[in-house]
Amino acid sequence: MPFEKPDRFVERLFLHCSASDRPEHDDVGVMRDWHLARGWSDVGYHLFVKKDGHVQAGRDLEVIPAAQAGNNTGTIAVCLHGLAVERFTEAQYRSVIGLSNEVNAAYDGMVTFHGHCEVSSKACPVFPYREVLGLDAHGNMELPQDPTPLTQADTPTVRLMDRGPAARRLQELLNAQGAGLAADGIFGVMTREAVVRFQTDNELDADAIVGPLTWIALGE
Ligand SMILES: [Zn+2]
Repeated sequence: MPFEKPDRFVERLFLHCSASDRPEHDDVGVMRDWHLARGWSDVGYHLFVKKDGHVQAGRDLEVIPAAQAGNNTGTIAVCLHGLAVERFTEAQYRSVIGLSNEVNAAYDGMVTFHGHCEVSSKACPVFPYREVLGLDAHGNMELPQDPTPLTQADTPTVRLMDRGPAARRLQELLNAQGAGLAADGIFGVMTREAVVRFQTDNELDADAIVGPLTWIALGE
């Protein structure tokens, strides 16, 4: 579902969570029913990201969302199904990164990305969205760049949600130690867990950041 800019003015995208981990709630139709029951005209969010990464359409993008009280005008509202931080999935992170990249490109980088928690007292969206999207302090996301190929000497520091050849090399090296990861070049939550395990086993700082010491311990 490629993102198409609505005609109305948009300057911010807000991320939310559904505040449920129950599989029977993993559908925009359920959210719509909840919101209709509150007397709303439609589901409050424009897009809903299921645990399997599928993105479902909610409210028409041309219509202002009902998602961030007092901060709805000029926004797009995206909801990920989930509540507990450790139960959001890599598939969801991949989808929200892909979607956000599309939105960012559609607006030439002139849109910023935020969590509901920035304009409310809620913890929503719970997951580490700044880390996942690689946001700066203002909520700007970098426009995607061409990945540079990895050379033998090129083992840059990598961390959660980094993507590219270095992340793939890391996964291959962890797999050589029996991690059993998909070597897809995306440093997701499973890769993060494997890194922490490897660092703990090797008496390294278990910070889930793969820097020179961790690369050396992995044999690079
Ligand atoms: Zn929210």
